[in-house]
Amino acid sequence: LGPPGSGKGTVAEKIKELYGLVHISTGDLFRNCIRQNTPIGQEAKVFIDRGDLVPDELTVRMLAERLDNDDCADGFLLDGFPRTLDQADALEALMNKSGFSLDVALNVSVPDRMIMERLSGRRVCPECGATYNIYSQPSLEPGICDVCQSELTQRPDDKDATIRHRLDTYAVRTAPLLDYYEQQGILRSIDNSGDLAATFAQLKEVLPQ
Ligand code: ADP
Ligand code: ZN
Repeated sequence: LGPPGSGKGTVAEKIKELYGLVHISTGDLFRNCIRQNTPIGQEAKVFIDRGDLVPDELTVRMLAERLDNDDCADGFLLDGFPRTLDQADALEALMNKSGFSLDVALNVSVPDRMIMERLSGRRVCPECGATYNIYSQPSLEPGICDVCQSELTQRPDDKDATIRHRLDTYAVRTAPLLDYYEQQGILRSIDNSGDLAATFAQLKEVLPQ
């Protein structure tokens, strides 16, 4: 859990490395569907481009399919899901069915003022998925991917007006999940406003060994 721009994706990559878990990002799954122009991608694109959440039914269906893969049998890390209380309920039902339970819900927080800079500065490589930030983590040559030399792009939903809408949506629809998992006793929080080393040190403290 964490607002857009909190760095969930970066934190997730680190957890994946530390625990050897499959990293499932619903945002990435949607972007893949859009790139491949699948029926799910066509339906989701409208919502994503204007900064709205994709409807729960579609999101849950896509996630349930992904969790059915063999690589999830020993556990998994969800990034960007659940984002609504209904999604959280659906997840619980799915997990009960397969005998899993959530170990931890991790809240990645950053002060509001950092969020706009992170998101409006974000650039991504459409070919290899590498991410950069023109302010804090620029590529060696402006606009060009260090890894594969492709031209960097800005996500359509990283434009200023859309960012503001995504932040409002987070506050209204997703933030209530913090209480939901707090009540279950599995919420852990880290502050991701410092450097990555500081974040990773906190991770080691709040995650199970
Ligand atoms: P960010 O965390 O920066 O918003 P993501 O890559 O996680 O980026 O998500 C991008 C977009 O994909 C969201 O704004 C939303 O439209 C859609 N999306 C991702 N996950 C979900 C979800 N669980 N429920 C509904 N929509 C989602
Ligand atoms: Zn690249």
